[in-house]
Amino acid sequence: MSLEKRAGQGNLVRHQECSNQGLSHKLQRAGRHRATKKRVLFVLTIRTCWVDNMSEAIQTEKSGYSVCTIRDIGCQLRSEAKDGKLASVRAHDHPALAKNICFKGVAAPDLHNHKDRIRKPLKRVGERGEDQWVEISYEQAMDEIAEKLAGVVTKYGPESLAVSTSGWNTQSTHGMDRRFMNALGSPNYISGVSLCAGNTAAVNKLTYGWFVGADIGNTECIVLFGHNPRKHSWTPIFNAINAAQARGAKLIVLDPRVSDQAEKADLHLRLCSGTDAAMSLGWLNVIINEELCDKTFVAEHTTGFEELCARVNEYPLERVAEITGVDAELIAEAVRAYATAESAVIPWTPITDRQISSTSAIRLHSLQNSANMKKLDSQRHWLRWN
Ligand code: SF4
Repeated sequence: MSLEKRAGQGNLVRHQECSNQGLSHKLQRAGRHRATKKRVLFVLTIRTCWVDNMSEAIQTEKSGYSVCTIRDIGCQLRSEAKDGKLASVRAHDHPALAKNICFKGVAAPDLHNHKDRIRKPLKRVGERGEDQWVEISYEQAMDEIAEKLAGVVTKYGPESLAVSTSGWNTQSTHGMDRRFMNALGSPNYISGVSLCAGNTAAVNKLTYGWFVGADIGNTECIVLFGHNPRKHSWTPIFNAINAAQARGAKLIVLDPRVSDQAEKADLHLRLCSGTDAAMSLGWLNVIINEELCDKTFVAEHTTGFEELCARVNEYPLERVAEITGVDAELIAEAVRAYATAESAVIPWTPITDRQISSTSAIRLHSLQNSANMKKLDSQRHWLRWN
């Protein structure tokens, strides 16, 4: 059966990152020694891998519920095991979740059961590039890796090591990867989140105190900056946007492409790539100068508003139109639709995360979002504008 057909039929997957705990303990025992200050950087890539923590379901040939952690959405799913193997992964059977699964979740059994999947530690024998390996025990692997890492730490210091992981870690405070680096004594920790969501999380925290999530299920207006959730990618967000549109929510898409979401948007602003920050300054210009934000909220819950006004006044819509390539009237129409909606959201988008001037653009998205916070419980949302 094709992946497309299997999507949405229901089942479970459960994934877990490799634990580095054993390695951390060994390194701690080995001690942290800064013998030299040579600027040598060893980058370890710790692969997130799938482990056999589905063993109970697999051994007893039963189905069960779990969560997909391939990525951050964490769809709740069901799995089925037959003949000692994970046989299928499907969407949850609760009606509210029944469509929430994408290709990656559906493909979990193919990945899990793939003949080339590494299930035991392999040690290279022969020369690098000869592709010759022997199987060793976890104990031996841990001992050998710890010994080598301890040797590097002793010779060059812990900061000579950097770790790159694929762990979801927007708080930058949790996870075994982080703990491993603490034990190692190196601050050089990198994850995919540094390029995707991490900067939004940091800037949101600076603005609101937390990495806020968009309540698409209850909003009247959704603004997508380059974001293009589709049926088989970002599936729950795609489903939530469809449901919101079905009950009358407006969709505004800012994207140079005529994306799937742009095709069904109420307004499509085809801004030049990388001009999100200028566009957002233009939005704030309209919101502030047309008095579309709540003055009481601004007075009671923000600081630096005067400085913000001065900054956005440097970006009248004519200038923004010139930079972004979008007609000034269309920009104004979109801003008014957003700012006068009963509730509106600009959901986090990895597109803004990854472009030039992303930190400024995200900061401005945060401020745009705050223009709608007057409709929320303001006691829980204290803002700094500078
Ligand atoms: S959208 Fe796909 S990859 Fe993401 S959590 Fe859901 S099933 Fe997993």
